[in-house]
Amino acid sequence: MSQTVRTRPEGSDRALSEAYDTALLDLDGVVYAGGNAIAYAIDSLAAARAGGMHLAYVTNNALRTPGAVAEHLTELGTPTEASDVITSAQAVARLISEQVPAGARVLVIGGEGLRVALRERGLEPVESAEDDPVAVVQGYGGPDLPWGRFAEACYAISRGVPWFASNTDLTIPGARGIAPGNGAAVEVVRIATGAEPQVAGKPLPPMHRETVLRTGAKRPLVVGDRLDTDIEGAFNGEVDSLLVLTGVTDGPQLLAAPPEHRPTYVDTDLRGMLTGQPEVVAAGEGFRCGGWTATAGAERLELEGGGEPMDGLRALCAAAWTAAGDGSCGLDAGKALARLGL
Ligand SMILES: [Mg+2]
Repeated sequence: MSQTVRTRPEGSDRALSEAYDTALLDLDGVVYAGGNAIAYAIDSLAAARAGGMHLAYVTNNALRTPGAVAEHLTELGTPTEASDVITSAQAVARLISEQVPAGARVLVIGGEGLRVALRERGLEPVESAEDDPVAVVQGYGGPDLPWGRFAEACYAISRGVPWFASNTDLTIPGARGIAPGNGAAVEVVRIATGAEPQVAGKPLPPMHRETVLRTGAKRPLVVGDRLDTDIEGAFNGEVDSLLVLTGVTDGPQLLAAPPEHRPTYVDTDLRGMLTGQPEVVAAGEGFRCGGWTATAGAERLELEGGGEPMDGLRALCAAAWTAAGDGSCGLDAGKALARLGL
C-alpha cells in the first residue's frame, strides 16, 4: 500500500451525506447493539437517505442472509432491501466461485447465510466430507454449531481440499458478553490441520470489492466502529471512513492507532453523517480544533481550552498521530481524555 500517512482527521465544509454518494455502514456498534437500535441511528439514517445518500450495510457476520438482516433493520425503523445488505458470505462465495468449476460442491461449516450465498454463485452446498467437496467454507454458525462440523472440515482439508473462511473476527458481542466468533472457530480447524484459509471479510479486499460491485458506489464513505475491520478495510480499499464511538473503539485506542487504523473522520454517533467536519489546524507546537489545542509532550498528550468534546478528540488525534508518524502513539492520554469525558 503506497498511501500517505494520515496525521490528522480531515475537515469537510459539506455534510458527509452530501459529499459522498454511498454510506457503507457496519451494523453492530453502529446501527444496533445487542439487537436494539443505537441512539440517534434511525433518525440519522433517515435524514441521510432523504438527502439523497444511498445506504448499504456491510457485515462480516455470515450467519444471517441479507434478507434476514434487511428485515431486522426494517423492524428497527430503517426500511432496507435485501440488495442493500452485503455479507462476508457473499464475498467468500464469489472468491470460491472464481477458483472452482461452475456447480462445484462446497462443504459448508456455518449457517444459512453461507448456503444461500453459495447457491447464488451457482455452487452446491454439501454437509459431509464424504460428498466430494472441492472446497471447504467456514462462517459463523451461531451458538448451536455442533463440534462435529469442525471434524468434517478437518477430514476434507487434510485431504488437500482448499479452505476458505468468510471472516476471522475472533469475538462476537452479545447481550450477555463477548462470545467466540468465526475467527475462534477458524483457529480450531487451523490448529487441528495446520492449514491456512483464504479469508474474504473485512478488512480484506474481497469484502470491499463485493461491496463496491453490489452498490455501484462511486464515492463511498465507510462508517464503522472497529479500527481493525471497518477502518482498516477502508484504508485497504483506499476510500474515506467515519469512525463512530458507539461501538468497541474508545479514545485511547483511537489515539494509539497506527496509520492503517486512522479514520478520515471521527464523530460521536451517526449524527456525524449529517454535518460537516471541523478542520484541525496546526497551532504553535500543537493542533487546534474548535476551542481545543492539543500538544504532544515528552510523556503525555496535553489538552488546553474548551468546547465540543469531539473537537478536543480531533485535536488530540492530530497531536498523537503526528508524534507517532507511521507507528503507534504510546504517550499517556488519560488526563486529556478525562477532560473530554472520554
Ligand atoms: Mg461493528
